[in-house]
Amino acid sequence: MHVIDTVRNWVYAASVKGRFQIWHRWSGVVLQAVLFLTPWIVVAGHPAFQIDIEGRRLYALGGVFTPTDTILLVLMGLFTAFGLFLFTAIYGRLWCGYACPQTVFLEEWVRPIELWLEGERGVRMARDKGPWTFDKTWRKLAKWTAFLAISIVVSMSFVSWFAGARALWTGAAEGWYYWVTAFFTALMFWDLAWFREQFCNFLCPYARFQGVLCDDASLVVSYDAARGEPRGTEGACIDCKKCVAVCPQGIDIRTGFQLECISCARCVDACQIVMDKKGQPNLITYNTLSGEQRIVRPRTVAYTTLLTVIAVGFFTVLFTRPTVDGLVSRTPGSTYTVDADGYIRNTYLLRLTSHQNEARTWAVKIDGLPADAQVIVPPITLDGAATTTVPLVVRVPAAELTAQSVPMQVVVDSGNGTLSMKATFLSAGG
Ligand code: SF4
Ligand code: SF4
Repeated sequence: MHVIDTVRNWVYAASVKGRFQIWHRWSGVVLQAVLFLTPWIVVAGHPAFQIDIEGRRLYALGGVFTPTDTILLVLMGLFTAFGLFLFTAIYGRLWCGYACPQTVFLEEWVRPIELWLEGERGVRMARDKGPWTFDKTWRKLAKWTAFLAISIVVSMSFVSWFAGARALWTGAAEGWYYWVTAFFTALMFWDLAWFREQFCNFLCPYARFQGVLCDDASLVVSYDAARGEPRGTEGACIDCKKCVAVCPQGIDIRTGFQLECISCARCVDACQIVMDKKGQPNLITYNTLSGEQRIVRPRTVAYTTLLTVIAVGFFTVLFTRPTVDGLVSRTPGSTYTVDADGYIRNTYLLRLTSHQNEARTWAVKIDGLPADAQVIVPPITLDGAATTTVPLVVRVPAAELTAQSVPMQVVVDSGNGTLSMKATFLSAGG
């Protein structure tokens, strides 16, 4: 019977240097630059990336997307999901090891700060076993203060993607954004200070799907048991356990592939140092379970085909979408009224969404009604991509109406694009 171990063994990952740690540093720098800088970068007059919940708009690299672009957003989501499936099928959990925010913050902040304030693995283990002295207390407090500061800055940057960086950092954003920031700060502090690798092992949905997304030709970190065993005697492994000491997941890769492994290659760098001294090739490397690297496989072909179809669909919709979307609807519950001057009046609501970045003034005219029909509509100016709803009143002399329902076209024109929408004009008829 499998018994779940409910006692957590705290992981004291030793520091390690090596070629893959340099890759960690670079991916960490680039990804954190994206997080911290994109809310402040302006492209074509808008944030480089912002999900404006109140304005119901998404800004992305100069493009502006509104709820009428839902199909584009769905295609973007599908592309991201299948892109990750393809990446995982080929490269296994490299995302976890180098690009997941959880790993990036632990590698770039938590471990360096712990090393600086609490010392190496052995020193930390010994101090944690000992009593709460002044030395232990101030080090812990300093560490947690640093983690709290990081949590605040990261949460503010994340919420800036929604509230806008300037508004949030100057205190001008809506109050609820600060509550959300406080919530994320608390969550992140708890994660950095205590939860850590348990997130990958128990909570992360992506980690749960690894078994389905990977196969024996996907990249994994593996130990060469044929050369290494029997360890400590005739095998090349000297059983120094450095690969175990550096592992942030607390596993021993020498016992075989394990789902907890996040492919971070800290053990690869650790063993490299040992094997370099022995003048032998590394025992722990990036490899595949089958030993051969086949990129072209049924699942990678299927994912690539799907990605191509989604990309073609996305760009077709993007480049053929109208510069303006609109909808004419009759004012709820209304049919027509007879004005004192003998005109029949119909009232509508006209909703317009501009996809253009420039401010435009829209003119409205009606086709399909008698020549002396009157159109009453307030001036419509959309300041860049936005949605507005205005009342639209149409009046026609009763004498000129011969049918109870006359089809008509509401035509809006910005001088750089027109949109024609169907509607009907109601009256008592002739
Ligand atoms: S076994 Fe190696 S690659 Fe896997 S999590 Fe541990 S250190 Fe990282
Ligand atoms: S670091 Fe290399 S030599 Fe040392 S225990 Fe791990 S596999 Fe063996």
